[in-house]
Amino acid sequence: MKRLITALLLCTLPFAVHAELRVFACEPEWAALADEIGGDLVESFSATTALQDPHYIQARPSLIAKLRRADLVICSGAQLEIGWLSALLQKANNRNVLPGTDGYMEASSFVLRVDATTEVDRSKGDIHPQGNPHIQVDPHNMTVVARALSARLSKINPENTESYSANLEQFLDRWEVSIARWEAAAQGLQGKRAITHHKSWVYLLGWLGIEEVANLEAVPGLPPTAAHLSQLTKQFASGEADVIIRAPYQHAKSSAWLSERTGIPAIVLPLTVGGTDGATDLFTLFDDIIMRLKGAMDDA
Ligand SMILES: [Zn+2]
Repeated sequence: MKRLITALLLCTLPFAVHAELRVFACEPEWAALADEIGGDLVESFSATTALQDPHYIQARPSLIAKLRRADLVICSGAQLEIGWLSALLQKANNRNVLPGTDGYMEASSFVLRVDATTEVDRSKGDIHPQGNPHIQVDPHNMTVVARALSARLSKINPENTESYSANLEQFLDRWEVSIARWEAAAQGLQGKRAITHHKSWVYLLGWLGIEEVANLEAVPGLPPTAAHLSQLTKQFASGEADVIIRAPYQHAKSSAWLSERTGIPAIVLPLTVGGTDGATDLFTLFDDIIMRLKGAMDDA
């Protein structure tokens, strides 16, 4: 009987779809990157969607179950998930993915973070004390994290190192060509001025040479106040900015209000995969961002 079962297993195994590793990503961009680098060897899951603010989500029981079965956790880090990830990790009680282990990685620890400060007054509400965590909107950061992710996947699943390396090379070949295309398409955006809702776009704007001239939030993490918005109305009364940018999960009210009074166009940009209908993977995410920026600036 045992021999029969073994024979049956051997027959079915080559046809079974079986991912080697389960990747729990905190944000959709890291799940998408895990799919690129892991291919069929990886089954990825994102704890948040592009329509949620990753600073604030509920630690739902379904997320605990996912985390309990994960082989690798990849998050932006730099305190982006401080409000929910540690509670999830504690409840999931999965020793393979605790901070400090090979099963845990923070993408922002591999890149140069901007706006880090030593004088944080959290009473003022600043939620970026370790530097800006929204690193995914500079494709050069994505290159660095892709390399780190490939190395990490190989470390926890060494028998498939060749596949992870080959997938990385394939991804980077396409990625470098795309970056050149995006940079060429966005040349006319250099020197433009943007007002952003939250400091979600510093890496994108830095990459494209767009100046961030104001934020609708007076302090990162605090909702726009009437006083701050009215001050911005005066400051930009003659339209001394080219665009107002928000993410899909931020209320349109504040940017619409400022746009009406200043004539500066207000737009939504996808902050990650799934943020707009067009942003279906990492490549179309940047296609869509560039297209929307150009659309708004051409009108300006
Ligand atoms: Zn933030």
